[in-house]
Amino acid sequence: MAILEEPIKEVKTIKNFIGGEWVESKGEIKDVVNPATGKAIARVPISTKEEIEAAIEAAKEAFPDWRRTTPLSRTRRLFRLKELLEENFEEISRIQTQEHGKTIDESRGETRRGIENVEVACGIPTLMQGYFSEDIAAGIDEWVIPTPLGVFGIIGPFNFPFMIPLWSAPYAVATGNCVIVKPSSEDPNSQIRLAELVDEAGFPPGVWNVVNGGRTVVSSLLEHPGIAGIAFVGSTPTAKIIYKGCGETGKRVIAQGGAKNFMAVMPDANVSATIPALMTSFFGNTGQRCLSGAVLVIVGEDDSFYNDFMDKVVAAVSRIIIGYGLDDSVQMGPLRDKEKKERVLGYIESGIQQGAKLRLDGRGKVKIVGDYPQTCFLGPTIFENVTPEMKIGSEEIFGPVMSVMRAKNLDEAIEIANANPFGNGNAIFTSSGKSAREFQYQITSGNVGINIGIVAPMAFFPFSGMKDSFFGTLHTQGREAVRFFTESKVVIQRWL
Ligand code: NAD
Repeated sequence: MAILEEPIKEVKTIKNFIGGEWVESKGEIKDVVNPATGKAIARVPISTKEEIEAAIEAAKEAFPDWRRTTPLSRTRRLFRLKELLEENFEEISRIQTQEHGKTIDESRGETRRGIENVEVACGIPTLMQGYFSEDIAAGIDEWVIPTPLGVFGIIGPFNFPFMIPLWSAPYAVATGNCVIVKPSSEDPNSQIRLAELVDEAGFPPGVWNVVNGGRTVVSSLLEHPGIAGIAFVGSTPTAKIIYKGCGETGKRVIAQGGAKNFMAVMPDANVSATIPALMTSFFGNTGQRCLSGAVLVIVGEDDSFYNDFMDKVVAAVSRIIIGYGLDDSVQMGPLRDKEKKERVLGYIESGIQQGAKLRLDGRGKVKIVGDYPQTCFLGPTIFENVTPEMKIGSEEIFGPVMSVMRAKNLDEAIEIANANPFGNGNAIFTSSGKSAREFQYQITSGNVGINIGIVAPMAFFPFSGMKDSFFGTLHTQGREAVRFFTESKVVIQRWL
């Protein structure tokens, strides 16, 4: 058991980054607490309306010159940022573990996935090219120019505090826009470190701003006429507020919401490969992933397959090592805070009340590596005999809870998943191409896994979502993000 050095050593009050300056906020101050140790590690401001308005003004002022900066020159800053992120890779990863609670390997994965978006956005000189038709009529040509729109708000959730703003921000600035990032106030430190590196990479003042806070900041972004659009990732109730608010004020919007992901296991699945995939899917990031497995649907009426499979699942889950994520032997960290743990406990209680069979109970004293308060720790929990009518079978729990259902056949498994209001990341485990194809074809899910438990699209593919998991048209990441952050200006020309 070796605990890696904590990068945040002193409790400081976080500042906002506005117009290239680190500015103290006059807003209320809240503690950021390490969920494993229970110690405060920083103080975060809940910024005021005036402060977010100052950031919007700074970004508006920076926009005309930034837009005129050539795409190649803009991407040179991104190449420099990529180098700086690599140099500071371990520190950034440890910050995430220290304030979010995920394991260091999970944080390193998050940092890598964030950097990949910077890498993809470095292709903007070609990604942003328009197209041209000569002679649409005699002597007349027509072409389209993808043009930046101005200032965008980027609002992130707590569960991937470093990576998620990078699904949008690199594309926004590469295409010539300016951004205001509002990190989750629960774990803002990795965004602060990112902004320091952005500054060091030579982005002009006002191009990339960070304003900490909550609803006031979000409402001002929604209402302010100086904001061209918002890229939001978070829970479904908030995504609906964002989508509606942007509709009312005529802003373009990406609003990614919550999830309830179904993992169907066919009787012909490769069991030894499926079990480890299910472990990371259901219990990785302590179940706090929009792509986490939530419901395991075991397909077929063969009781011996079911019993044998479930025995193996329970044995594997019972071996998960829990503790402080900076101990690199640990496989699952705490939940982000006490309130989130209580919410998950409420779901476990509801599962019992609604008649599900509690096969593995994660409540009570959790066996942890090291000596840490139990406050945010919860052991992995498994329910069997779950039905879609139960809260644990239909709502997003966002914790280390596996709900197990059975389906007679593939059609029934697909029906169960499709009846759920969410459609984020559903998966099938099978050795049949026909079943895989049928699942992929019938399932209403933005991201689909075939023998993959965490369907996280690479940076050069869109991060999709359907039904209550996504509101909007274009998605974050890759080409769709480039399209989202630009408008098509169509030019038709005739010279007499
Ligand atoms: P959240 O909706 O509580 O918060 C997200 C952001 O919105 C935060 O920055 C928060 O400060 C702000 N916010 C919260 N309530 C608000 C309100 N009423 N008005 C205005 N702003 C508000 O989400 P969270 O708890 O931080 O994140 C977890 C959720 O995000 C889960 O539901 C998860 O599934 C979802 N998520 C979705 C994706 C995806 O790609 N679809 C990815 C990650 C997380």
